[in-house]
Amino acid sequence: MAAPYLCNPIEKFNLFMSYDNNTFQNLISHCKEYGYIFQSSEIYDGLAAVYDYGQNGAQLKKNIRDAWWKTMTQMQDNIVGIDAAIFMHPTTWKASGHVDNFSDPMIDNKDSQKRYRVDHLIEAFVESLEKEAGAALIHQMEQLLAADDLAGIKQLIIDNNIKCSVSGTCNWTDVRQFNLMFSTELGSIADEASTIYLRPETAQGIFVNFLNVQKTGRMKIPFGIAQTGKAFRNEIVARQFIFRMREFEQMEMQYFIRPGSQMEWYEHWKAERMRWHQEVMGFPAARLQFHKHIKLAHYADAAVDVEFEFPFGWKELEGVHSRTDFDLKQHQEFSKKKQQYFDTEINQNYIPYVVETSVGLDRLVLATLSNAYAEEKWNREDGTPDSRVVLKIPANLAPTKLAVLPLTKKDGLPDIARDIIKNCRGAFPCFYEEKDSIGKRYRRMDAIGTPFCVTVDHQSKEDGTVTIRYRDTMTQKRIHMDDVKAKVLEAITV
Ligand code: ATP
Repeated sequence: MAAPYLCNPIEKFNLFMSYDNNTFQNLISHCKEYGYIFQSSEIYDGLAAVYDYGQNGAQLKKNIRDAWWKTMTQMQDNIVGIDAAIFMHPTTWKASGHVDNFSDPMIDNKDSQKRYRVDHLIEAFVESLEKEAGAALIHQMEQLLAADDLAGIKQLIIDNNIKCSVSGTCNWTDVRQFNLMFSTELGSIADEASTIYLRPETAQGIFVNFLNVQKTGRMKIPFGIAQTGKAFRNEIVARQFIFRMREFEQMEMQYFIRPGSQMEWYEHWKAERMRWHQEVMGFPAARLQFHKHIKLAHYADAAVDVEFEFPFGWKELEGVHSRTDFDLKQHQEFSKKKQQYFDTEINQNYIPYVVETSVGLDRLVLATLSNAYAEEKWNREDGTPDSRVVLKIPANLAPTKLAVLPLTKKDGLPDIARDIIKNCRGAFPCFYEEKDSIGKRYRRMDAIGTPFCVTVDHQSKEDGTVTIRYRDTMTQKRIHMDDVKAKVLEAITV
């Protein structure tokens, strides 16, 4: 039997092929072929639900992270960014409730030994049902999960005759809770006291630094602290490519507010985040929706997901949570250090309430790629068929903004092209290529998602003009080479 950490290619294949079309599978292959995303440790057959970003993926991810950071810190009067460590004192996770509560209900099939998260098992089954019956089953499941009725959930699975996809049987264990945190040992002695966790969320690094930032930054409520960084969860059922990973990156902002004002700020941040997904990420409004939580996490008094329509359905992209004063209160109790703020406007001391926005960077990458990916076919003017695969990534996020392509390798054209690159590369990433026909080079740039190509030809030597080609429309225009930089800069500034 394969070790559990290895990827099972057949299982992977089945999971991907169960979605509505092959496009998602094609996107995954495309991501590998064009240096976006690789399976981690691929030469050793991979590590399940762990991925590496290649040369284009890393740059896309950085561009999205930078766009978020700019919106959430630079463009705000009262939000600052920090970078807390992944390892934290183990009591942090006792206080936050993660040691006791950070678990998912799981069920095992006794015949195949395969373990499922019960909500995933039921959701997968719902895909085979009529819309109304499916919605009713999801509703029942949510009610049972909200009531922590694990026996009821098992009964629901049995009553609906939900089978294991591997064994095809209904021979289920009881439903049990599994903690999702990874643990390791600090130092050389492996006893309980030295057990520490890889953080399952970045938020706690912000809570424990609340007073440090408030005092050193002379912050006045309401104010926010933002952070991006790795988080780790031992997801039992890892699937859907980079949608559900064991090591992933979060971008979170905790907004500290006066108790009682949480609903106002909750609505504010809901609207702000929805606006950001459309205006900065370029997602169409039709592919975004809110999904209100019925079962609230142990710390929340209101919570909503921003969902994106992925190729495999509507799924969570971001959470907006009203976390009350739960976290700071817990840290005050466990650390015995006061986590209070003196509000000079109302002359009161209190533990602030918190509204947080928490988005997965990897899910944003996947949403961007699935929104951008297109397989296009058309007939040329002479009737011959043509096609291309293109990533229509918004120009502000595309890894490479401009490709400069001399038509031939001689007659001084490469020198002109290099001069254009020299003039532009300080402002944005550029790419130079002289190999292959111009048509092939355009196709490669389309596949990587480069929004602009500039071709230098013999006319360029005479009048200083070049051809600029627009990726999305494939239209071409002659402009002066001195205008290239300004044109691209205009398009990438949001
Ligand atoms: P899910 O219900 O999909 O497991 P969650 O509600 O547990 O997600 P949160 O704890 O609210 O997620 O985390 C905030 C964000 O972090 C999510 O909206 C998601 O974008 C991202 N995220 C959470 N878990 C993962 C994961 N395993 N892989 C990639 N991104 C993740």
